[in-house]
Amino acid sequence: MRIDDQPTTADPRTLQGVGVSPGLAAGPVVLLAPPPGEPAAEPLAEGADVEAEAARIRPAAEQVAAALTAAAASVTGERRDLLETTAQMAQDPSLVKTAAKRVRTDRLTAPRAVWEAAATVAEQLRALGGYMAERARDVADVRDRLIAELTGAPVPGVPRGVDPFVLVATDLAPADTALLDPAQVRAIVTAEGGPTSHTAILARALGIPAVVGVTGAPTALPAGAVVLVDGSAGTVRTDPGPEELAAAERRATLERTFTPPGRTADGHPVQLLANVGDPAAAAGAAAAGAEGVGLFRTEFCFLDRAQEPGVAEQVAAYRAVLTHFPGKKVVVRTLDAGADKPLPFVTADDEPNPALGVRGLRTARRAPEVLDHQLQAIAEAAGAEQAEVWVMAPMVATAQETEDFVAACARHGLPTAGVMVETPAAALLSGPVLARAHFASIGTNDLTQYTMAADRMLGSLAELTDSWQPAVLRLISATCAGGAQQSRPVGVCGEAAADPALATVLVGLGVSSLSMTPRALADVAAVLAATDLATCRRLAQLAVDAESAAEARARVRAELPVLADLGL
Ligand code: PEP
Ligand code: MG
Repeated sequence: MRIDDQPTTADPRTLQGVGVSPGLAAGPVVLLAPPPGEPAAEPLAEGADVEAEAARIRPAAEQVAAALTAAAASVTGERRDLLETTAQMAQDPSLVKTAAKRVRTDRLTAPRAVWEAAATVAEQLRALGGYMAERARDVADVRDRLIAELTGAPVPGVPRGVDPFVLVATDLAPADTALLDPAQVRAIVTAEGGPTSHTAILARALGIPAVVGVTGAPTALPAGAVVLVDGSAGTVRTDPGPEELAAAERRATLERTFTPPGRTADGHPVQLLANVGDPAAAAGAAAAGAEGVGLFRTEFCFLDRAQEPGVAEQVAAYRAVLTHFPGKKVVVRTLDAGADKPLPFVTADDEPNPALGVRGLRTARRAPEVLDHQLQAIAEAAGAEQAEVWVMAPMVATAQETEDFVAACARHGLPTAGVMVETPAAALLSGPVLARAHFASIGTNDLTQYTMAADRMLGSLAELTDSWQPAVLRLISATCAGGAQQSRPVGVCGEAAADPALATVLVGLGVSSLSMTPRALADVAAVLAATDLATCRRLAQLAVDAESAAEARARVRAELPVLADLGL
């Protein structure tokens, strides 16, 4: 293996990063304005007009609320709700009053008083727990906007109401990404963020081409300069020529749709499924033609909860997803708590190394009743709906864990029980694991993290947390060999399944279903439909034999001219 695995490019006009959401797009650079930061704690100057300073806060808050209300009126759905909630927070009298009082009593400057008052209000909300605790995040957003208004700093976050642009940032907060409007943001370029970061997952869900881990961004990309972003190749081209810009324009207007079923050019079936996390996503996935759900992340029902939700509440939540797939497969994943998703009722908060700690199925050692209640709720929901329900456990490492989980499912009358292959141990022991489980689904996000010993959230390790790494591909191959030995199906539900070029490799390795964000279905289906099984197998061999992720990707892409034809 070569030491330097970072893809490089000889062309000085091209910056190289890691492509995490495919597609070609061009536009002028807009830099994400950073939050203004903590104002200095110095008191007001001697003789300063304290009343006048305190009186600056209310009009500034009104200004912030008006700007947010106007932004809310320009969008719809979830984005509008989010902006309206933040606008209400800006008008909340307790924040303004507390801040004005701090100016008068402690002689703080208005920005500093806002900073301190926001901390107090956020603390009060957190103490209330539940929905109110979630609002603490909005307080920080309002605080930053108010401080920007008071100090004349640029408004933080993604600009609104400007012509379509390429968004360049050091990193994006999940809320920044959730608010992106695909009609306005043509592409995303960040210095931080790995292929499985929130930015990457949301960018793919929104269909916005994205490149992360770009060394030199944002400094090498000045505001206003036109750049060409290739989210498949992971490149950002400064100073693109007219032909390149025309190709990007063609790609932007091309709308592909998916007509099931998924299959290769010679008719080999590959089930194309969706990853969903809540009922709205399930409705979208069904509308996009998904042949079923390959990963239903049930966490949405549990996140931000101090207590386990009751069985009746869980049944209602699961039914709301299952109802969109009558007669079709829905793979329900049991609670994946721990590491980046800590839940107070099942995870410990004092683990030195939570990614290697009590997470996923392991939480059932600490709180077996939580798994029991969840399986009961899944069984009840399955009984009340028409979907064909399969159940799987996250973070499985041994054959014994598999056996215990399958037995627990059977006790609840859930006949099809499988495991996620997310650890090298499960991949290498897939034979014995699949002698017990009815199926396996490879979670390539975690499998890559654990194989490469590289935190999936760390942008600086983006070239390691890349599922094209040949070591990861070899473990996928080992998993498929275990599946073939036991005649059990092996699917992939990590982000790797959404990469059309990698999809051909996965099929060539023996994967029989691919589950992805619904946005990716059409592209993956189109590339598979143009590639026969023998070619998939040949490409798989090329990728597995490569010495680096960059080499594997380049070798396979060079053999798939259909990618260029489709603008991928
Ligand atoms: C994975 O690890 O690939 C996976 C699908 O699970 P999650 O991203 O929810 O950890
Ligand atoms: Mg996982």
